[in-house]
Amino acid sequence: MEQLLELQRVDSRLDRLASQRRNAPEHDVLRAASETVAQATKRREAGQARLGELDARIAEDEEESTRLSTARTRLQGQLRTVIAPREAEALMHEIQTIDARRNELDDAELGHLEEQEHLAAAQSVDEDDGPGRNQAAAAAQHALDAVLADIDDQIAAATHERDERRSEIAPALLTRYERLRASLGGVGVAKLEGRQCSGCHLELSPGELDEVKSVDPDAIVECPQCSRLLVR
Ligand SMILES: [Zn+2]
Repeated sequence: MEQLLELQRVDSRLDRLASQRRNAPEHDVLRAASETVAQATKRREAGQARLGELDARIAEDEEESTRLSTARTRLQGQLRTVIAPREAEALMHEIQTIDARRNELDDAELGHLEEQEHLAAAQSVDEDDGPGRNQAAAAAQHALDAVLADIDDQIAAATHERDERRSEIAPALLTRYERLRASLGGVGVAKLEGRQCSGCHLELSPGELDEVKSVDPDAIVECPQCSRLLVR
């Protein structure tokens, strides 16, 4: 039964190590650093896409502007040859419409160029930060690897110790212990300390205490409160 307590100690250590492995804060640091890198990549892609879109818009506007210039030249030629005032008025109106549209296009192009400038500046800053971001992610990965390697070493040593201890315990008792461990939060065996069970921390009544103490020292008893195996 004392051996079972030793096994419990090792099993509890293994449980703690597994939890440490899962919950190492280095996981969060790495996740955050990787997220920062991923977001920068997304930003760069979105920026490139928008720059391309603006290029296309500028090209379209310039094409329209060229078409309008040609039309305007043609209309001005016609204006010099018409005699009827109403016809001249109509032509002048058309020219005004073209001029208004060309102004619109010029304003739009200016806006697009300005947006491109801002985007390019932001991208350049983002790019400068790139090495720092990548370095932080690599350092976070490195730190996590080191922590996990250390925990894994401890797990390997504890597992070796557990295997040795298990080989010294009767299989039937092991099975009972494992079943209790699975259903009672990882603790299948407890020690009687005075009147208290170290598993559930409840005190045994004088009657229960008498009963536990009266049985054969080699017999296996359970805590009457939590039913863990009880070492006296
Ligand atoms: Zn108990």
